[in-house]
Amino acid sequence: MQISVHPVAPEQRRPRPADDQLVFGRIFSDHMFRMDYQEGAWQNPRVIPYGPLELDPAAMVLHYGQGIFEGLKAYRCADGRIHLFRPLKNMERFNRSVRRMCMPEVDAQLHLEAIEALVRLDVEWIPRSVGASLYIRPTMIASEPHLGVRPAAEYIHYIITGPVGAYYPEGFNPIKIYVSDQYVRAVRGGVGEAKTMANYAASLFAAELAKKKGYTQVLWLDAVERRYVEEVGTMNIFFRLKDELVTPPLSGSILPGVTRESVIDLAKHWGIAVNERPVTIDEVIDGIASGDLKEIFGTGTAAVISPVGEVFYKEKSYVVQDGSVGEWSRRFYDEIVGIQYGEKEDPFGWIH
Ligand code: PMP
Repeated sequence: MQISVHPVAPEQRRPRPADDQLVFGRIFSDHMFRMDYQEGAWQNPRVIPYGPLELDPAAMVLHYGQGIFEGLKAYRCADGRIHLFRPLKNMERFNRSVRRMCMPEVDAQLHLEAIEALVRLDVEWIPRSVGASLYIRPTMIASEPHLGVRPAAEYIHYIITGPVGAYYPEGFNPIKIYVSDQYVRAVRGGVGEAKTMANYAASLFAAELAKKKGYTQVLWLDAVERRYVEEVGTMNIFFRLKDELVTPPLSGSILPGVTRESVIDLAKHWGIAVNERPVTIDEVIDGIASGDLKEIFGTGTAAVISPVGEVFYKEKSYVVQDGSVGEWSRRFYDEIVGIQYGEKEDPFGWIH
C-alpha cells in the first residue's frame, strides 16, 4: 500500500516551542499518520495535518477500552542524521498488543514507513539540544459505533509525534518509590503484557496515593501473593544484587520493554551475569539492609535509566546505597544514550 502525503499549508503550521520549553506530551508536530480498517481491510494510509479525530459517541474504544499504543523516539545526532532506536521492536510489540486485544494487525513495514514519512516531513520538529528528541506515539482504537461487548469491526490506526525535552535537565536524579501492597497493576493471564489503555487507567489510583506521600513512582507487586516485584511505574525494574544483574522474568503481567531487552543484551555483551528470575520484596529490603543490593533502576523509553534512591514499604523507608547514582545505572545510561545519538558505536545494529 502506498502512503499518500498531504502536507499542511504554510499558514496552518503550528508554533514550535524553544528546546528549553519542552514538556513531555503537551505539544504535537504538524502532521499525523492515519489509516482506517473497514470491511476487513486497512485502507487509505495517509499523512495529514495534525488535528482532532471525529468519533461516534458509540465508538467501541470509548466504552470497552479496545485500544493500544506504542512509544518510541527519533533522535537528532550532532552530524544531522536522524536515528530511530530499534523501531521494529516497537512494531512487533504493537502487533502483539493488537492480537491480545482482538484487533487487526498492521503490516510492520508499512508502520515503519509511516513513521519515516512523518519524521521526514516534520524533521524540523526534532529538537537540537542534547537529550531532547521527537516522541512518536502509534495508536490503534476501535472506532465502530456499537454497544455490546465483542471485538469491533472498524478501527483507526494513527501516529502522532511531538518534541520532548531531556528527561534529566539537571542531571541524573534518583527517584523515590512507593511499594503498593494494596493495589495491583496487572494479573497473570490478564492484559499486563499488552500496551493497552486499561493498564494505565488501572495504575492511576495507586500512583496518586504514592504522590500524596511524596513518592514519584509505584513499585508494583504481583497480584496473587503481593510478594514478587514486577515493574516500577511505567518502567521495567533491575537490581544489581552482589555482582549479578537481576530482573523479573516476563511472566505475563509485565510489559516486555525494549529498553529492558537492550540492557540485558548490553550486560551480556560486557560479561555481566544476567539472571531473569522472580525477586521478592523481602529479598529487596533484606538486600538493602545487608548491602548485597547495590543498585535498583527502572528502564524505559522516556528516561532510558531511572536510578532508584529510596524504597517505601509497609510504612518504612529504605535508602539504597546512600541514595546516590550507581555505577551500573550510569554505565547503561551513557552507553544507550550514546548509541541513540550516534556518539557511540552500535555493535548490535540497533539504529535505524
Ligand atoms: N512497562 C510499562 C508498563 C511501560 O508502559 C513501559 C513504557 N513503554 C515500559 C515498561 C518500558 O518499555 P520500553 O523500554 O519499551 O519503553
